[in-house]
Amino acid sequence: MRTLLCAALLWAGAVHGADIAIVGATVIHPEREGSAGVARNATVVISGNKIQAVGPAAITKVPPGATRIEGKGKWVVPGLIDAHVHFFQSGDLYTRPDVADFNAVVPYAQEVARNKARLAATFKVWLASGVTGVVDIGGPFWNFDVRDAAAASPAAPRMAVAGPLISMIDRAKLDIGDPPIVKISSPEEARALAARELARNPDYIKVWFIHQKGDDLAAQEAIVKAAGDAAHAAGKRLAVHATELLVAKAALRAGADFLVHSVGDAPVDDEFIALLKKNNALYCPTLFVVMGYRYALSNTWKPTEAEKRLADPLVLAMMGDLNAMPKDKLPGSVTKLMASPPAVAASGIEIGNLRRVWDADLPVAMGTDAGNIGTLHGPSVFRELQLMVDGGLSTREALRSATTYGAKALGADTGVLAPGKLADLLVLDADPLADIQNLSRASHVIKDGKVFVPAELMRSLQ
Ligand SMILES: [Zn+2]
Repeated sequence: MRTLLCAALLWAGAVHGADIAIVGATVIHPEREGSAGVARNATVVISGNKIQAVGPAAITKVPPGATRIEGKGKWVVPGLIDAHVHFFQSGDLYTRPDVADFNAVVPYAQEVARNKARLAATFKVWLASGVTGVVDIGGPFWNFDVRDAAAASPAAPRMAVAGPLISMIDRAKLDIGDPPIVKISSPEEARALAARELARNPDYIKVWFIHQKGDDLAAQEAIVKAAGDAAHAAGKRLAVHATELLVAKAALRAGADFLVHSVGDAPVDDEFIALLKKNNALYCPTLFVVMGYRYALSNTWKPTEAEKRLADPLVLAMMGDLNAMPKDKLPGSVTKLMASPPAVAASGIEIGNLRRVWDADLPVAMGTDAGNIGTLHGPSVFRELQLMVDGGLSTREALRSATTYGAKALGADTGVLAPGKLADLLVLDADPLADIQNLSRASHVIKDGKVFVPAELMRSLQ
């Protein structure tokens, strides 16, 4: 019976123009402060792919013939948005040979081919985790095909995308014909690569701003500015990886609209905050990703409860591969990490900087950097959100980061629950303001007005 009901809902949601009503739920508005942010006994009406009405159940009319979802004892929030992911990577051990080279076990070309072939499943785990929008902030040129596949798929998150990273350094081990990272040595080269990417209509131009001892920061900044000017002339945004304060400031001076990581080497200062404000730039903390590498490469990675339910089971099954791997196949760095596993914790500097940027009323977009080793597509959002809450954001603030501010990164009219907005939202079995992990308890995930049931999505993986 349960399966029949779910199938009926999926079908009803898939019918063009069908109305849906979630009746009598507690609706959470993460963009609002205080009691205005929680509306009890409320009804949400969806028509087509838009929210039509949100209001008290007593006065909000349910259209005749609407598919009804009982909201009593449930919570409704906007769909989550992960502002930093990479589909060319899977999160498993074999996905970044430039960091840990396991080519002797699984050749990198095989890993990438598997990730391509697995895209439909990867889309589904995102949706099952309540993530209705993702920003793939850099990868091979085939990233643009991933965006097309997501747009054409009935069960996929919305997606914004960047192409290959305009980089200060080379990553030869990732180059199997369509490299995700391309070394650029001059503003002219930056303009030329940006032009090739702009021909594919990216949402962002992305720069990997790696500044090493002895590098000429001003010359590097000129490369970033050339990329940014090209992006802006085409009406696109500039996203920059810049993890040191000095470098992040240079990125902002060069026009960055989106800093895709925390500043991690020093506390941010007034000048940095002023530059962020001047650009109206987004800041994405990505607190977990470094921890993910440390856990996975020291063989201490353990799935969370949410990952056991919502991660791609094929990837999950590979996370313990170090247990059985012959010692002579292990990269030296991994042998060392396994011999004395490091203590793994979030960076205090990054947590402090998150709080400082948040308190300056700047938009902080939740992002996981999923696809990196140890950071799995989908349920890693619950690890990241937990770190944000443990770091001092309220559950409401963390939810705002993952919805209202995430929508700014995605560039889509979603992330709040109001008439006219895109119908991307979650119906939850437990209160996410009481425990942020309850965001993983969706009974229904609605994306673009279509209803999905997480358990059904997970069962449909092959
Ligand atoms: Zn990344």
